[in-house]
Amino acid sequence: MGLFDGKKGVVFGIANERSIAWAITQQLAEQGAEIGFTHLPDKDPARPKNENKVRRLVDPLGAKFVLPCNVQDDEQLDSVFKSIEEQFGKIDFVLHSIAFAPPQDLTGPVYNVSRGGFTTAMDISVYSLIALAGRARPIFNEGGSLLTLTYLGGERVIPGYNLMGLCKAGLESATEYLASEMGPEGLRVNAISAGPVKTISASGVGDFKKMLQLYETFSPLRRNISEEEVGKSGMFLLSDLASGITGETLHVDCGYHVMGGPPLDAFEP
Ligand code: NAD
Repeated sequence: MGLFDGKKGVVFGIANERSIAWAITQQLAEQGAEIGFTHLPDKDPARPKNENKVRRLVDPLGAKFVLPCNVQDDEQLDSVFKSIEEQFGKIDFVLHSIAFAPPQDLTGPVYNVSRGGFTTAMDISVYSLIALAGRARPIFNEGGSLLTLTYLGGERVIPGYNLMGLCKAGLESATEYLASEMGPEGLRVNAISAGPVKTISASGVGDFKKMLQLYETFSPLRRNISEEEVGKSGMFLLSDLASGITGETLHVDCGYHVMGGPPLDAFEP
C-alpha cells in the first residue's frame, strides 16, 4: 500500500536528473502516485532537448502526459490545465518547483537590478505559483495539496542570493495567503525551504562551493542535505500524512536556519 495509491497530480519543474522536482517525483512514484509532467518549451521543436531530457526520466515511471509549459504564458497555462482535466478529471497534488532570474540581474547587487529583470524574476519565480493555484483550485479533490520550493535567502540576507531572495520572500508570503484563502475549501499550500542542492538553478547563485562548505561547518547536523531528503519531505507535505499542515515553510536544511552565529569551535586556532 502506497501513500499515493489512487492519487493523481502534476509536477512542474523537472529540467534534468538533478532537479529537486525529480527527487520529489521519485518518492511520489514510489508511493503509487499517477503523475503528469510539464517541461520548459523547446525553442526549436525539431530538436526537443528539454522534452527529451524530461521524457527520458519520467517515461519509465509511466508518466500520464508530458506537456510544454512556459509559466509566463497564460494561454499555455490554460491549455495545460485543460489537458490535465481531460486526462485526470480531478487531481490531488501539484508541485511547483520553478524559479528564474536573468543572470545579469541575479549576479549583481540588488540596487543594480533592472526593472525588466525584476519583473521577469518575480513573474517566473512568484506569480507562477499564483497562476498554478488559481487554475488548480477548481479541479482539486478535497484534501488537495500544492507545494513550492523556497530558500532561506527569502527570510534573511544570504550573500550572493540577491534578487532571488526578494523573489523567495514574495513566494513565501504567497504561500501563506494562498493557504489562508484555499484552506476553507480543504486545500493545503506549503513550501519547503531546502538547503543547497547542486542543480542548474543553483549554479546561477553565488559561490555554490562555498555555500556547501558553510552548511557543512555551521549546520547542526554538520553536513549538507541530500536530494533524497528533500524528495521525502516534499512527498510528505504533498501526502495526507501532512493533512493538518498548511501555510508552512518547512526547513529541510540540516538545521542551518536555527543558527544565529557560527559554532564556537569553527574559529579555534
Ligand atoms: P532546476 O534548474 O532543476 O529547476 C528549475 C526549473 O524551473 C527548471 O525545470 C526550469 O525549466 C524551470 N523554469 C524556469 N523558467 C521557467 C518558465 N518560464 N516556465 C516554466 N518552467 C521554468 O533547479 P532546482 O534547484 O531543482 O530548482 C527548483 C526550485 O527549488 C526553485 O524554486 C529553486 O529556487 C528552489 N530551490 C533550490 C535550491 C538548490 O540549492 N538547488 C535550494 C532551495 C530552493
